[in-house]
Amino acid sequence: MFVFASLFISLPLVAFCGTGSVWEYTGIHGPSHWHEEYPDCAGVMQSPVAISSEKATYDVSLLQFGFKGFSELVDANMTMKNNGHTVQVDIVDTSLRTHGGGVTGGYKPVQFHFHWGADNSKGSEHVIDNHHYPMEMHIVHYSDRFQKIEDAIDKPDGLLVLGFFFQIGPHNIHFAEVFNYLENVAHKDEIIEIPPVVMERLVPIDLIHYYRYRGSLTTPPCYESVVWTVFTQPIKISNEQMNDFRNKIKKTTVNDTNEEDLVDDFRPLQQLNGRNVYSSFLTQKSSTQAPSSQTVQSINVVCKHLHDDTNNAIITNLSLFLISISILTSGFTCGN
Ligand SMILES: [Zn+2]
Repeated sequence: MFVFASLFISLPLVAFCGTGSVWEYTGIHGPSHWHEEYPDCAGVMQSPVAISSEKATYDVSLLQFGFKGFSELVDANMTMKNNGHTVQVDIVDTSLRTHGGGVTGGYKPVQFHFHWGADNSKGSEHVIDNHHYPMEMHIVHYSDRFQKIEDAIDKPDGLLVLGFFFQIGPHNIHFAEVFNYLENVAHKDEIIEIPPVVMERLVPIDLIHYYRYRGSLTTPPCYESVVWTVFTQPIKISNEQMNDFRNKIKKTTVNDTNEEDLVDDFRPLQQLNGRNVYSSFLTQKSSTQAPSSQTVQSINVVCKHLHDDTNNAIITNLSLFLISISILTSGFTCGN
């Protein structure tokens, strides 16, 4: 039964890793050569990108996400695997759904995985205001418009990826439920079934503040099919938990004589090439979209952001001015 399940879930892995041609994060098969075997990697909508809070455009349509089933133990099998490029947890046969967040329709989460550095100064794929985090997690979803991820993986908006940064802090008991199994997947191609986890406990409390742009898979075949969501609030884990990735996970198989640590599995930053990055919130020097496109619902969100941001005492005079104009032109006032 377990063998069958493993074979079944290996399909998305094949699609993501593009088996058949070797790719690496360094050397002759490194990122600057990926396009030779995977032409999409030379596209103009590639990921990851550097995000500037100053240049991001505030978009009032970027509402809160809804996460169906994330607060319960998932009714799914979870399988952790070392594929030589990352540690990936596959979520198989789940009823979990993500919707809202300014995307059309529902998206089904299928796996989450990690990118990390050899030390705390690097590791994240996305960079915000030139800040690199030691690790980034991607929760990969595909659109309900498709029957399976293989159909969605190369289609515009076929995938939704939620990106979360990590920073060093106290021991994280919720992630420990996942990280406890790292030593079981120390070597490439090792795989283990893990007990299901409550997804909500893995993500930060603040899911309102995020950036949005159109981009790609950050690994070959680099399809430009991803609606990217990068959350601003980092997840905290201890230095010991972070070091477990660096010390326990190898990019070599159990049979390889020269054991090599799996570290620095992040792609270099890609050019925006004129793409906009949008923010779900007013940044210090936000530009905004035209108020005429705003709806009653959007105004409610503006009001909520006004409330949140006021609590955080980070709202600027410019932001207050823009919100006032938005509300006046729409004829609505903020409720509680
Ligand atoms: Zn990733």
